[in-house]
Parts: sequence; C-alpha cells; structure tokens
Amino acid sequence: MYLLKESCQTGFIPDIVRILRKYDLFNQLLQYTSDTVFPSSSKWKSIVYKAVFNWEELMMYNRMNNDSDFSRFMLIQDVISPHILWTVALKFPEHLSKLSNIVRLCTDLRSTNLIELCHFCGFLHDDRISHIVLHCTKTESLRDDLWCLISAVFDIEFSVFLHSLSEYNLIHVLLGGSLPYRLSPSDHVIFVLHSAIFVDKMLLLYQH
Ligand SMILES: [Zn+2]
Repeated sequence: MYLLKESCQTGFIPDIVRILRKYDLFNQLLQYTSDTVFPSSSKWKSIVYKAVFNWEELMMYNRMNNDSDFSRFMLIQDVISPHILWTVALKFPEHLSKLSNIVRLCTDLRSTNLIELCHFCGFLHDDRISHIVLHCTKTESLRDDLWCLISAVFDIEFSVFLHSLSEYNLIHVLLGGSLPYRLSPSDHVIFVLHSAIFVDKMLLLYQH
C-alpha cells in the first residue's frame, strides 16, 4: 500500500522503502514484489554493501569537488578507506604519535592566498607546510637527511621521479598522498613512514 501511495507515512516499512530509494536499491524490492525472486542472503549483503559504498563515495566526491577547502585533501585521500598512514601505524606502532600528527596536519591543509613572512629565513611564502618542508633554511639539515635516506634506500629512478614532481605535488606525496610511481607495497610503506617522520621532525623544529 505504501508503495502505491508514495506518501509521507511514517513507520518501519516506509523507513525501509526510503532507505532502499536512498541507496538505489528500490528496484530490488520491486523485483521481489513482482516475481518473488530474491537474492540469497550473502548476495543481498554484497549488493547492499556495494550500493551503500557507491552512494557514500558519490557524496564524498560531490562534497569535495564543490568545496575548495578539500582541494588539497583530495590529493592525499580521494577514496573511502583508511589513510595509508594508519596502515603504516599498524606495522610501526612505535611511531603512532608522529603518524597521528601528520594525519591531523592533512585534515587541516587548506589553499590560501595569505602571504606570510618566515621568521627564521626571512622569505615570504603562501604555503606554510611547503615552506617548512621544502624550502626553509631552518629545516635544511633534516631535508638533506631525508633525501639522503631516500637515495640510499630506493633506486635512483625513484629519486629522479620525486625531483621531477612539482612542489605542490611533492608535498602531498610526502604527506602520504597517492604516489604515481610503482613501488612495491613494502617499499611504499617504508617511504611513507620515513617521509612522515621527517616532516614531523621539521614541524617540531620549526616551532622552536
Ligand atoms: Zn623559512
């Protein structure tokens, strides 16, 4: 009866129907009511999981694409899954606090036109994190150490690739963003771990 009326009724069945419509599963219900053929329990769970995931992913993309506050965050996390830094933290729990600091930093990244003067090196910049990690003389020694470590641990092609990135892309890669380079999963974890540790050290040094 509810299906026919399309009304604003309340209750269990109307709620179920609204949820099915929300996740584009209503046709499954219509199919069931017309021919009494319903998927098995496991298949139904799979259908529901996929439908909910697709809906949530679409909502996430719509929101992030229409809000400039998320333009940088999208370069770091553009899928619904735990950030890679959490995956790294599971393998290296002794570095959890440092990795948490970087995740927190990722959520605070915003594009801004605000020009600031660095009180350490005296240069003007409009991107505080990029300045600290990629430019400032205050963190130069740590930056050199990071590049030396990358050169020592990974093949030379990877170093060349990183140097070929624009600064804007490089800073997001160093924060655990998607890496358009084929590293083995274990090497990727090591790269993300060391990048995060060094970025955290630079931020700490810059504050003092
Ligand atoms: Zn500086």
